Amino acid sequence: MRVAVVGSGPSGVYAADALVSQDAVPVEVDIIDRLPVPFGLVRYGVAPDHVSIRSVRDTLDKVLDKPGVRFLGNVTVGQPEDGGVVSMADLHACYDAVVLTYGASRDRRLGIPGEDLDGSVAATDFVAWYCGHPDADRELFERLVPTATSAVVVGVGNVAVDVTRVLAKTVGELDHTDMPQHVFDTLAQSHITDVYLLGRRGPAQAAWTTKELKELGELLDAEVIVRPEDVVLDEGSAEVAASDRAVGRNVAVVQEWAEREPQGKPRRIHVRFLSRPIEMRGDDRVRTVVVERTRLTSDGKAEGTGETEEIAADLVVRSVGYRGTALDGVPFDSGRNVIPHTDGRVERDGVQVPGEYVAGWIKRGPTGIIGTNKKDAVQTVTSLLADAEAGLLRAPTQPGGIDALLAERGVAVVSTAGWRSINAAEQALGATRGRDRTTIHDRVALLDAANG
Ligand code: NAP
Repeated sequence: MRVAVVGSGPSGVYAADALVSQDAVPVEVDIIDRLPVPFGLVRYGVAPDHVSIRSVRDTLDKVLDKPGVRFLGNVTVGQPEDGGVVSMADLHACYDAVVLTYGASRDRRLGIPGEDLDGSVAATDFVAWYCGHPDADRELFERLVPTATSAVVVGVGNVAVDVTRVLAKTVGELDHTDMPQHVFDTLAQSHITDVYLLGRRGPAQAAWTTKELKELGELLDAEVIVRPEDVVLDEGSAEVAASDRAVGRNVAVVQEWAEREPQGKPRRIHVRFLSRPIEMRGDDRVRTVVVERTRLTSDGKAEGTGETEEIAADLVVRSVGYRGTALDGVPFDSGRNVIPHTDGRVERDGVQVPGEYVAGWIKRGPTGIIGTNKKDAVQTVTSLLADAEAGLLRAPTQPGGIDALLAERGVAVVSTAGWRSINAAEQALGATRGRDRTTIHDRVALLDAANG
């Protein structure tokens, strides 16, 4: 059986691993990615200073060496007008089954006036920039970061924490990471002294995890400031904090911060709760964010009080979640921004699409830790293997398979060997500056490196 996995992030690699780690059905898997490098958000989402989480890629990398697994990088699935070099129909002609694991790479929007002002950016774009994603807008951040003094980060999830930490750390605290050199150089020119982290609900409703949250309180040059009135819990929140240990720990961290004496550090992280942005104001660039005080309703939602304040901000990072997008020819639930499925089997109007499966964020939405994708991928692969054993999959029809098709279309595929060359080039580049690795951000440079 030949299976295509579309997307080489954790869910794709875990799906490939599950497919080749069973004996019931002999399988060959191609992991296809539009980028010349594998590992998706492990490379382009996990913050570079979270070195131990990033080391998951060593585990994922071992899967690429397993018999029956190939990496086909620099291959975009989709219509030619979207940059696609192979369509879903092509994949179905080349493989018995297709597993879609292309994630959720777009940003969600706030829907408030001024959101599109210069200086207001999506966290997805900022994260892509500091991780060295080939599609990141380098020019934008090289202009915005050195000219900003006060930043607002909207949202209180782990991505907001990452963004805040990167903005508040000294370059010395980031020096050991694999960020591209131009990112270090730009962050070194930052004059940002204040970062406001805005949660529209209370500390008991924040989406971050305690370990990540605590790191904000341990930075060299930045101190956390919390207003005592923001961390007083209403009855419902107090009950949740008492019954849910994870919530209780989060609340304890911010309550302790609220009691801290000011330390006089050069940078400040202001963590604000019950605060929702309702407008961004500015001229040629965002200058302030109008924030409305909220209160919690009986069902835990944020409700405006009409009381507002204006916070100075020449950089606003909207970190309110990722969003999946549709792939041409594949059913899509545009309400939930996921591919509809049952147990990983893709469904159109409730009917299974033969040979089509889904795993990861594009299956369940942008939630969970990296490990969540393993269980998720195994569920999908179990469904696929059961369908194979039941004889429900169609055999490929394309003579010569995907290799012939890609060669005919002149696609410069990056194989596992090509990725190994890129890997070696990044390690060599890092060594020139005393680091383990430096990410190569430029697509052409990546393709050159793939060719040795
Ligand atoms: P998230 O955890 O879903 O957090 C989104 C935040 O945005 C929430 O605080 C949410 O508040 C807020 N929000 C949504 N709409 C809003 C609006 N219109 N106005 C104001 N606030 C709004 O998403 P994420 O931070 O992007 O993280 C995605 C996933 O990756 C999560 O599972 C996360 O744990 C994981 N991750 C983990 C790490 C790590 O280091 N372990 C790092 C990065 C990401 P409400 O709750 O009020 O909606």
